Amino acid sequence: MHEIVVNLHMHTRYSDGSGTHKDIAAAALKAGVDAVIVTDHNVLVQGFEGYYKEKTKKILMLIGEELHDQARVPQKNHLLAFNAQRELAAFVENPQLLINKVRDAGGMSFLAHPDDPAAPAFNETDISWEDWSVQNYTGIELWNALSELKTIVPTKLHGAFYALFPAFVAHHPIPATVTRWDDLLAQGQRVVAIGGSDAHALHMSLGPISRVIFPYEFHFRTVNTHVLLTEPLSGEANTDKKLIYEAMGQGHCFVGYDLPAPTRGFTFTAQGLDKSVIMGDELPAKNGVTLQAKIPSGAEIRLLKNGAVIQTWKNKLSFAHITTEPGVYRVEVYRRYLGKLRGWIYSNPIYVR
Ligand SMILES: [Zn+2]
Ligand SMILES: [Zn+2]
Repeated sequence: MHEIVVNLHMHTRYSDGSGTHKDIAAAALKAGVDAVIVTDHNVLVQGFEGYYKEKTKKILMLIGEELHDQARVPQKNHLLAFNAQRELAAFVENPQLLINKVRDAGGMSFLAHPDDPAAPAFNETDISWEDWSVQNYTGIELWNALSELKTIVPTKLHGAFYALFPAFVAHHPIPATVTRWDDLLAQGQRVVAIGGSDAHALHMSLGPISRVIFPYEFHFRTVNTHVLLTEPLSGEANTDKKLIYEAMGQGHCFVGYDLPAPTRGFTFTAQGLDKSVIMGDELPAKNGVTLQAKIPSGAEIRLLKNGAVIQTWKNKLSFAHITTEPGVYRVEVYRRYLGKLRGWIYSNPIYVR
């Protein structure tokens, strides 16, 4: 497989971000990601998809959309739509209809920031996902860098601290979202997890000081979705777009918090009697399955079955675990950074049936 680093979920001046598509391309080139997916609110912006180059480096920009009903109070149920070939903002009133329309248009949908609590110190309301009766979506945004910020800023002073020292923000996905994901998986659903930055590059003024807080480039170095492609990127935008979205749709991806150390190189695979699979895939339990993971540098690895940790390895670079028990298996990896043990890698599951 060919791993690429994708940063997804960000806003430009077409909605409530402060930068342009060109700014995003420049920041992505600097940060060294392979692709970005820009998702402005309720508008599928045309004309910016394609490769952006600088000297020997290039990045692929894809354009999706973040959809929600702006007439709803509060404005909950945000949906990320990728690869839908048409504007879908007319269907935001009914989340299930919207999900169906994304699918009809050949696209994928992910429930954005499923838990996104209020931050009263900043007049920010709770915009969590509310309608859990929905079906047939592709997955959820397990780790949203901005939702997490809302959970750690009880006062304006906290906000100022994190604005000045953004590396302290990310700890792990919001636990309620992880529990929700495990519950959905336990019901037999396949739910692909992705990580999003929700980058806005907002301006903040404190007296005479004015600066961009959480700039795009910072976000592109933090929570990324690492996608495992069947072929390397070709350099042709349409071919590569198809490769990336196919892999994401199958859950051939993991969420990596790349700031403490690069997560590039992580693998989670399973070998059965007849075949080998990667995360996102299914395998029969019969005759035994060997689950294996490798991490790029030393950290604490946890193997989970149906949402519960069944084994932990500390300071190891890999593990092998043999089982004959059906279940949904996934891996979490933790690493010490800035004085705390923080979530580093969240794999998609391997479904042993
Ligand atoms: Zn949103
Ligand atoms: Zn957003």
